[in-house]
Amino acid sequence: MNYDICIVGGGASGLAAAIAALQAEPGRSVLILEKNREAGRKIRATGSGRCNITNAAAEGYLRVLTFFRSVGIATRTYPNGLVYPYSESAADVQEALVAAVTSLGGIIELDATVVAAEPAASSDGGGAADVTDGATDRGTAGFVVTYQTHADDGAPVVRTCTADRLILAAGGKAGPQYGTVGDGYKLAAAFGHEVVKPIPVLTQVECAGDGCEPLSGIRARGRVSLYRRSPDGLIDNGAPAPESTEQLLFEEDGEIQFTFYGLSGIAVFNMTRMMRLTGGLKFADFSVGINLYPEDDVTGFLLEKRSLGGTAASLLNTVLKPALADYVLARAGIDRTAAAARLSDADVARIAGTVHDLRFTPTGLHGWKDAQCTSGGVTLTEVDPDTCESLLCKGLYLTGELLDYDGPCGGFNLTHAWLTGINAGRAAVASLRDR
Ligand SMILES: Cc1cc2nc3c(=O)[nH]c(=O)nc-3n(C[C@H](O)[C@H](O)[C@H](O)COP(=O)(O)OP(=O)(O)OC[C@H]3O[C@@H](n4cnc5c(N)ncnc54)[C@H](O)[C@@H]3O)c2cc1C
Repeated sequence: MNYDICIVGGGASGLAAAIAALQAEPGRSVLILEKNREAGRKIRATGSGRCNITNAAAEGYLRVLTFFRSVGIATRTYPNGLVYPYSESAADVQEALVAAVTSLGGIIELDATVVAAEPAASSDGGGAADVTDGATDRGTAGFVVTYQTHADDGAPVVRTCTADRLILAAGGKAGPQYGTVGDGYKLAAAFGHEVVKPIPVLTQVECAGDGCEPLSGIRARGRVSLYRRSPDGLIDNGAPAPESTEQLLFEEDGEIQFTFYGLSGIAVFNMTRMMRLTGGLKFADFSVGINLYPEDDVTGFLLEKRSLGGTAASLLNTVLKPALADYVLARAGIDRTAAAARLSDADVARIAGTVHDLRFTPTGLHGWKDAQCTSGGVTLTEVDPDTCESLLCKGLYLTGELLDYDGPCGGFNLTHAWLTGINAGRAAVASLRDR
């Protein structure tokens, strides 16, 4: 069977693409090939089961709301700009999107893992396609898509289908447990697309050398700063460069969650987007500073409190949770049992300095399984920004996390997925009309 449009991947952008195409031109044949046994599996896991659909600060926010309304999904924009389904159920979003595809006449084939996609002309030896403006023009030649599925008895079966337009919506590598293991990169590369090395982002930071075990489970509000040491390569014999040569790359206030291996929390997640290992950088070239009292200088308070007696540990009572206070004192080189009255001004300044700038040296990022997004992917300069059509192969579209885009937490990544899907779906169907 030849389809008007074949979409590889029934995730956020693939479902949006199918809906947008079928809303624009009812009656078109649209096939989604999805490797999982349900479409939109990852959507159900988003926003901790609530699905943070978009953000009032995101470009295209109103378009996203209009799209959701068009498929009957009620949304609520919270005072902080985050948008969730009114019911706060990610499963509701998944089910409504899948239902919208099928009620519009789209076909979703599950348990269909696409293993290859290529221009129809080259697969049947039918000669080279036209080349227009440097891109291969598929005209009506279309694409051949090969996928693996299973017969009723469970035996693997390889099938092919053809389509006039092909949308690659196979996602990135984050959350492989939801089906995204990087297949899309191979499929895109086969069309000549360049893929920027994917790395997991919006994930926890490991700091193996900082002895975080006693901090496991502690939450604290504070300011997270990311520095790059020695931007001009001054690190001598591996020794950390003096702090004066540090460059501030990122700063955000929020809740920090300490784990036995390092750091977590939204601000930490967002920070990981700046930890690209380009130009030979290593994780150890970054330094994370946590200000546990960002509103004010804590020194005056601690100096006053010293006169009340107690111990070094009690100085930090009500400022920090006890285990975090002990950690800070240890990092400042102060005995927690020392009498407060015996601490010198310099000792108190050292404690205050550590409260304001508790340093961690990253040794890595938590792996793909815990990451919420992929940094890297198909380079954006090879894709039309309005239509998501490949600039290398006409009739081919690329959407969502497969592209080299990543946004912060707060609904920006789903916004990108919905909008690129909508743009590609509409453009693909419009190009069939013009044919
Ligand atoms: C736990 C978690 C929580 C998140 N929460 C949020 C949030 O609240 N807000 C937000 O904005 N973003 C969130 N994200 C990020 C967001 O979910 C993704 O950026 C978005 O889903 C990407 O959409 P996509 O269509 O590009 O890819 P996906 O939604 O990942 O869909 C890709 C689909 O392609 C399928 N596929 C892959 N390879 C093949 C193949 N070879 N053949 C057939 N099918 C294939 C996959 O099974 C998958 O269904 C979260 C991510 C995770 C992991």
